[in-house]
Amino acid sequence: MDTILNYIGGRHVPAASGNHLDNVSPLTGEIYALIPDSGQSDVDAAVRAAQDAFPVWSQMPPEDRSAIMLRLADLIAIHAEQLAQAETRDSGKPIHHSRNVDIPRAEANIRFFATAILHTHAEAFHTRAGVLNYTNRKPLGVVACISPWNLPLYLFTWKIAPALAAGNCVVAKPSEITPMTAYLLSELCREAGIPAGVINVVHGLGPRAGQAMVEHPLVKAISFTGGTATGAAIASAAAPRFKKLSLELGGKNPNIIFADCDYDKMLRTTLRSSFSNQGQICLCGSRILVERGLFDRFMQDFTALARELVPADPREESSRMGALVSESHMNKVLSYVQLARNEGGTVHCGGERVLLSGELSGGFYMSPAVISGLGPECRTNQEEIFGPVVTVTPFDREEEAITMANGTAYGLSATVWTRDLDRAHRVASRLDSGIAWINTWLLRDLRTPFGGVKNSGIGREGGEEALRFFSEIQNVCVDFGSAPTL
Ligand code: NDP
Repeated sequence: MDTILNYIGGRHVPAASGNHLDNVSPLTGEIYALIPDSGQSDVDAAVRAAQDAFPVWSQMPPEDRSAIMLRLADLIAIHAEQLAQAETRDSGKPIHHSRNVDIPRAEANIRFFATAILHTHAEAFHTRAGVLNYTNRKPLGVVACISPWNLPLYLFTWKIAPALAAGNCVVAKPSEITPMTAYLLSELCREAGIPAGVINVVHGLGPRAGQAMVEHPLVKAISFTGGTATGAAIASAAAPRFKKLSLELGGKNPNIIFADCDYDKMLRTTLRSSFSNQGQICLCGSRILVERGLFDRFMQDFTALARELVPADPREESSRMGALVSESHMNKVLSYVQLARNEGGTVHCGGERVLLSGELSGGFYMSPAVISGLGPECRTNQEEIFGPVVTVTPFDREEEAITMANGTAYGLSATVWTRDLDRAHRVASRLDSGIAWINTWLLRDLRTPFGGVKNSGIGREGGEEALRFFSEIQNVCVDFGSAPTL
């Protein structure tokens, strides 16, 4: 049995209470590690360690902070295979995904912000002759980073990298469902020479450990990625304390397919955007809207491809459909397939639990589901399912597609498939989403702003936006005009 420890003030320690939580591998359904069940005193110790480390880290020249962070990126690269295997065991995702997406991106996140901090600039405003305004950017102090289970190390590093690069000290909590790679990273942080207390990792339950971080008076900002309901709870705890808040929340993303698209590219990409990581990516396009002339052909081809996505041992390089992250999550996703049937939908394939053999027989596998025949207002088309389940709906006119696309409480991302350049830009500009992809999906540039509108969140991550979030901007106004006459 592996034992995961908190990382506080440069030391690996158990929860002060000595209590632990079970860590289940979705591959097998078996407990394979113990996690500290941290509470307020653990969070308080971590925040105080971060507060003590802040003067040294914040005043360190950016070149030195950058060099230490680049060492961490190098260590992630050196340990990439170990991290990929740990991620797959902890989250159930195919090793192909861990090797090619999660771990390389974790390394890239650290490298990107370690170098971005060398290229920042201040603003200056010449107000009139003899009067100059300029801005100072200062780190905030101690910040909290709370991340979800779907892309564990990828999203953990996406938050801690800009926070650290901007000179803050961090108290971070990964999801208690997938804590392993954050734990392994904390070992690498020490090896990289990040000073004690600069990064602290506290494991435990959201409502206990997470809530204690959100409420702690010394925590100046909270960067959160997770579900919309949790985001609302965090916002209501943080608002009266006037903490800076970045919320990256759920989605119900439309994938709009016009008949004039590059069909083969669209089909391949739509399979990925529907079912990558078992559909557990906030950016997955779970509502596929297809122009009527293409609908039958699309349904036939897409369903055939979805049927080929058979869950298989995630540790095998060839596996493209792994396990869902937990039994309760799998049951929730399966219940949505039943809901779709109750709402009058037709399930064309999948939507069933799949039992693998041998040691994987207790794992949380299901076949990807393709559903049609549902109206845009039904719950299946309105609520985030966050699993390998898509609905397909025909449309006749561009306007109708836009109305359906915008017709949920969410607004994270959207995809548009068309060869008509005018229409591509026109439709993208009218979508209520923080991100719109045209003829592609999940093509990311870390400099671009990332985030959602409506119930999908507040604020933007990525590049400059993240560095701004993790700093306080001070304006200095100087009057250096001629000496006043007496
Ligand atoms: P949750 O909201 O359940 O949890 C996210 C994190 O918040 C976890 O670390 C959780 O801890 C913690 N947490 C839970 N309750 C509290 C609380 N009261 N105070 C502080 N922290 C708390 O999300 P999931 O982990 O289930 O992740 C899936 C969700 O994340 C989906 O809705 C998905 O759309 C969204 N997501 C959004 C992304 C985006 O960029 N917009 C990207 C990826 C996912 P614990 O796990 O221990 O409960």
